[in-house]
Amino acid sequence: MSLHRLGVRQLADALARGECSSVELTQALLARIRRLDGDFNSFITVTEEQALDQAAEADRRRAAGEAGPLTGVPIAHKDIFCTDGVRTSCASRMLDNFIAPYDATVVQRFKAAGAVMLGKTNMDEFAMGSSNETSYYGPVRNPWDRERVPGGSSGGSAAAVAARLVPAATGTDTGGSIRQPAALCGLTGVKPTYGRVSRYGMIAFASSLDQGGPLCRSAEDAALILEVMAGFDPRDSTSVDRPVPRYSATLGDSLEGLEIGLPQEYFGDGLEPAVAAAVEQAVRVFERLGARVRQIRLPNTALAVPTYYVVAPAECSSNLSRYDGVRFGYRCRDPEDLMDLYKRTRGEGFGAEVKRRIMVGTYVLSAGYYDAYYLKAQKLRRLISADFQAAFAEVDVILGPTSPTPAFPLGARLEDPIQMYLSDIYTIAANLAGLPALSIPCGFAGHLPVGLQLIGDYFSEGRLLNAAHRYQQETDWHERIPPGCE
Ligand code: GLN
Repeated sequence: MSLHRLGVRQLADALARGECSSVELTQALLARIRRLDGDFNSFITVTEEQALDQAAEADRRRAAGEAGPLTGVPIAHKDIFCTDGVRTSCASRMLDNFIAPYDATVVQRFKAAGAVMLGKTNMDEFAMGSSNETSYYGPVRNPWDRERVPGGSSGGSAAAVAARLVPAATGTDTGGSIRQPAALCGLTGVKPTYGRVSRYGMIAFASSLDQGGPLCRSAEDAALILEVMAGFDPRDSTSVDRPVPRYSATLGDSLEGLEIGLPQEYFGDGLEPAVAAAVEQAVRVFERLGARVRQIRLPNTALAVPTYYVVAPAECSSNLSRYDGVRFGYRCRDPEDLMDLYKRTRGEGFGAEVKRRIMVGTYVLSAGYYDAYYLKAQKLRRLISADFQAAFAEVDVILGPTSPTPAFPLGARLEDPIQMYLSDIYTIAANLAGLPALSIPCGFAGHLPVGLQLIGDYFSEGRLLNAAHRYQQETDWHERIPPGCE
């Protein structure tokens, strides 16, 4: 049996029926990572020994009749989630030597469910990027075309799942970092409502935007994974105390009468025609399933990227001030005095993109500029949220492309940060508003996968996953495997 081809649901069933053991499965995937990941660079750390111990424990739990749905299922975590006793680098030289002394809540929840962690995945440094090229550990390659980026910042998670090295992985999404790599790698990726998934132990980039979520092959798998990830956490002050629905139990509901809005602003200049064509084809499928589709307006869409690039750097400059060479992480050699320690530690420990963000953030927060930039951006953020609330008075979900283009060549946008920032033009607004959104594969532009985004109102993850699942029952884009990864 080709175990690597099976998704989360299929593996859970195979384990439950005793068709394979978790140890067998874990060994098979670890061997596959050893054999193939030299090409992709999707893992920063592979936790081989620990994975085999967890797998043996999962098999014991199953034999004792104590298994849950994810017991024994292998997963990987983006290297932004703290893992007790395991290096947690955030793909930065600053944390290259950092062994986390505790588990993030998300990691702890997977452990409690009996899932097996294969390792920690590559990412853009501190999750800043859209191409996975800012990693201290080098770029990740897209399994669909090794000369192209997998998207970012959760590029390692996306490449690992697309290459069938692991059935599912965690990611984080501050401005698109789950959905955009999911789109570029042909996967299903979910950014939940802000506050749905705990941020405790998830290294902070921009705290009012960051949200963890799954990268999987199907909406059905994402529903199972999100059931484990989501939930109230008293250790995160922005976590929402609200029960987690059984997302997997409502899949398959009819889409009859579902109101879908197509924002005019998401189909304009800059959208590659092949991407537009694939998304329009998908709209026909939703209509066949009974959905009613109409045009809507989100008039402040053009303000989302500029607003984000004030708010996110401002929060990052504050969050990253903790890396001072004193308490943990990288420290420069032989500092002359305290000032020299700070300067050289941060100068040597951070990469160029992180420094750019810190400088922008410090600038927009400084006295004299605060009102003109930071305060203004907060007001625009409110207008962007109001656009969505007006739209959700008319429609149930908003549909559009996830990314204006498919995967671009490695290096293509490195010299031009604005071009890079525009990769997230359709994803960023959902973070500013705190709304749930997901990306699913909906076709190809040449040999490269295209992603479609669904955005919903607060806590409508179940409705989004159901719509995505119904679409995936009618199509097979999500089942396509990159050449060479069969
Ligand atoms: N690409 C965006 C950025 O660079 C979003 C990153 C993210 O979602 N973590 O900030």
